Amino acid sequence: FVEIKHAQKSFGKLEVLKDISLNVARGQIVAIIGPSGSGKSTLLRAINDLDALTGGEIWLDGVQVNKNLPYRQYEKHINQMRQDIGMVFQHFNLFPHMTARDNVTMAPKLLKGLSKADADKLAEEQLDKVGMLERIDYYPSQLSGGQKQRVAIARALAMKPKLMLFDEATSALDPELVDEVNQVMKKLAEEHMTMIIVTHEMDFAASVCDRVLFMDKGVVVEEGPPSVVFKNPTKERTREFLRKHL
Ligand code: ATP
Ligand code: MG
Repeated sequence: FVEIKHAQKSFGKLEVLKDISLNVARGQIVAIIGPSGSGKSTLLRAINDLDALTGGEIWLDGVQVNKNLPYRQYEKHINQMRQDIGMVFQHFNLFPHMTARDNVTMAPKLLKGLSKADADKLAEEQLDKVGMLERIDYYPSQLSGGQKQRVAIARALAMKPKLMLFDEATSALDPELVDEVNQVMKKLAEEHMTMIIVTHEMDFAASVCDRVLFMDKGVVVEEGPPSVVFKNPTKERTREFLRKHL
């Protein structure tokens, strides 16, 4: 469903991704763990071409994301593809001058031409899903970090994406706010949303993910089910990382 084929990425002389291949089946949940600078964010951003690969291919649901097309055609193609890929970052990137409602409905209104009534229905539905219906008319500045992150998830879901990408969605949060966001991600997992989750939270990864990828220095060192990667890793490098992070 998601296929990453021989992904390679360099920034100048620095090779950040070295021949990474990964397949994620529909409904699968994959966690990516690894030390700072190992290329986790770069890989995630390559999936919707925010960081263009220097080599390799990204496919989603049978369509190549990073297709080689003339510029104008490519713009159209990538904007289309990005509608299917929801992304939530570490730092809440809500539009500050818009309420939760407008944050959620802006893209669907613009891209799918929803009527006001349909947009309101969509906002209510998505914000209810993340437990934020009561704050529908609040501005980001009036919300806690965890609440903002839940609105960011609702906003991504409003486009009905085929794939959700999370890049350390909880790592900027106060510890007591982490769980409310994790619960939302858990719920998505139960609904079989296809997800790739970069996280530092090993317990969370172990509890929701079907597969864990340990990356170091731009390569996938080890991958497998959480029961293996966390409990019986085969590589010394993985064991060393886990000793520091479990
Ligand atoms: P962290 O856990 O700290 O978020 P990460 O695994 O997400 O780390 P990346 O952000 O993917 O790591 O960065 C991987 C490497 O690529 C780092 O050495 C980083 O300095 C480099 N890098 C990332 N973006 C750029 C850029 N735009 N220009 C140059 N180098 C970059
Ligand atoms: Mg990162």
